[in-house]
Amino acid sequence: MAVARTRSVALVGVTGRSVEIEADVGNGLAGIHLIGLPDTALSEARDRVRSAVVNSTYPWPDARIIVSLFPASLPKRGSQFDLAIAVAILGAAGVVPAERIAEPFFLGELGLDGRIRPVRGVLPSVLGAAKHGDATVIVPSANSAEAALVPDVKVIPVGSLRQLVEWLRKGDEVPEPQVDEGLEASTVTTDPAVDLADVVGQPVARRALEVCAAGGHNLWMLGPPGTGKTMLAERLPTLLPDLELDHALEVTAIHSVAGVLPPNAPMMSRPPFVSPHHTATAAAIIGGGSTIVRPGAVSLAHRGVLFMDEAPEFPRHVLDALRQPLESGRVTVSRSAGSVTFPARFMLVLAANPCPCAQAEDQGENCRCSPTVRRRYLGRLSGPLLDRVDMKVTVVRASRRELMADRQFTESSATVAERVLAARERAAKRLAGTPWRTNAEIPSSFLHSDYRPSPEAMKPMTSCLDSGTLTARGLDRAVRVSWTLADLADKDRPEEDETTAALHFWLGVTS
Ligand SMILES: [Zn+2]
Repeated sequence: MAVARTRSVALVGVTGRSVEIEADVGNGLAGIHLIGLPDTALSEARDRVRSAVVNSTYPWPDARIIVSLFPASLPKRGSQFDLAIAVAILGAAGVVPAERIAEPFFLGELGLDGRIRPVRGVLPSVLGAAKHGDATVIVPSANSAEAALVPDVKVIPVGSLRQLVEWLRKGDEVPEPQVDEGLEASTVTTDPAVDLADVVGQPVARRALEVCAAGGHNLWMLGPPGTGKTMLAERLPTLLPDLELDHALEVTAIHSVAGVLPPNAPMMSRPPFVSPHHTATAAAIIGGGSTIVRPGAVSLAHRGVLFMDEAPEFPRHVLDALRQPLESGRVTVSRSAGSVTFPARFMLVLAANPCPCAQAEDQGENCRCSPTVRRRYLGRLSGPLLDRVDMKVTVVRASRRELMADRQFTESSATVAERVLAARERAAKRLAGTPWRTNAEIPSSFLHSDYRPSPEAMKPMTSCLDSGTLTARGLDRAVRVSWTLADLADKDRPEEDETTAALHFWLGVTS
C-alpha cells in the first residue's frame, strides 16, 4: 500500500484556497474512488485522468485507488484538479517520486490524450498558492503568461502529462515560461480610435464625464436617440488613468475566472468598459450559473465602467440588484450550494430615451407617447436606484453652430485625462491613510464629519433639503461631487460655486 500527497487550488469567488490531494493505491478490488468531489465532476475526472495516464503510456495501477480532496467543504467543481489527481496517483504508484510532488501546486485540465488544457482563474489560483510562501505552481502552458504576473512564485508551464512526468523524474531545469514578446506591456487598451475629440458639442455632457472620471461618480444621461449618449459613455474610460497594480490584478483575476481574459493579454491595466444588452440574463449581469458561479457584467466592470444603454428596458429585478454593488462595491450571488461574493466597484452610466418609442424628440412627429406613457417609461428606473446616481444630464442634439465649429479646438481625451489625473491625485492625497481613493467611495458618515464643506458652502444644499427637492441620500451624493469639483478647480475645499454646480448635476438641471 502506497500513499502520495500533492496540492492544488480551489476558487471561492476570486479567492484561491489550497486543496490537499491524497492518493492511496493498495489492495482491494481494482477501481478508482474519489472522495470530496461532487458526483458529476467525480466521474468525469476519473475518466479523463485514467485516459490521459494510459494514453501517455504510463501504467495505470491495477489496484484499488482512493483519491481524497481536502477540505471537503471547499467547492471543487470543474476540471482544474485533473492534473493534481493524476500526479498523486502516479506518485502513489511509484511512477514519479512522491517527495517531488508534495510541495508544488498543480493546476490544469487533462485531455483524454494527455494534453494539459488551460483552465480559468489561473491568476487568483496562483495568488492563492503564493500565500503559502516559496510556492512552485505547475500550470498549463497556455496559462503561463497569466501565472507569471504573480511575483515571488516559481511557475512551471507544462503542455502535456508526459512532459510533466519527465520533468518530475529528472528534476531538469525549469522550462522557461513561453512569454510572447510585448506581453508584459499594457495589453487591454481602450480602442485608440476612440477619443473625446470625436464628440461634437455636448459641453454639459463632456463636463459631466470629466467630473465622473475625476471622482468615480455614477451618471445618468437622458436624451433622444442619435444624440451620442453611447459615444459619450464609450469615451469615459479614455479619461481614466491606468489601473494601479493592485487594482489591475483584481480586474485581471475576475476576467480570468470568467474565462474572458483577452488572448495574449494577461494583465488588464486599463479600466474595463462593459456594456451588457438589456436582453442579457440576470446571471450574465449580476453573476451566477448553474454549476460554477461566474462573475457577471457588474464584476467584469470592476474598477471600470458599466454602461447600461436603454436602461428602462432592463428587467426591474436586474436594475434593483444593482443597488447592492453600488453601495458596497461587492456583489453576493446566492445559490443552493452556498453564496459567492465577487468584487463589483464600477462607475455606472445609465442612458435612457425620453420615451419607449425611441423617436428623436425634434424629429418625433411619429411619437404619440403621452406624458403618462413617458413618465411610466422612465419610472421603471426606481427612485432607490437613481438615488445612487450622482449626476444626471440631459443630452441634446448638437446645434448647427456646434456642427460647423472648428474641430481643432475640441479637447481630446488626453487633455481632459490630464486634468482628471491631477484631480485624482489631489483627492488621493486628502484620502491618504483611508481605504478610499476617490470621492465617490467616501462613506456618508465621513461626509458629515471630516469631509463636510463649510456652512457657507452648504447653504444651497440645505435650502434644497428644507424645501424637499433634495433627499438625505441626494445630499450625500451632491457633497461627494462638490469635492470632485473642488479637486478639478484645485481648491482645498468645496465653496458655494462647487456645491451649487454639484446640486445642479444631482437635480439634472443642466441648462
Ligand atoms: Zn414616443
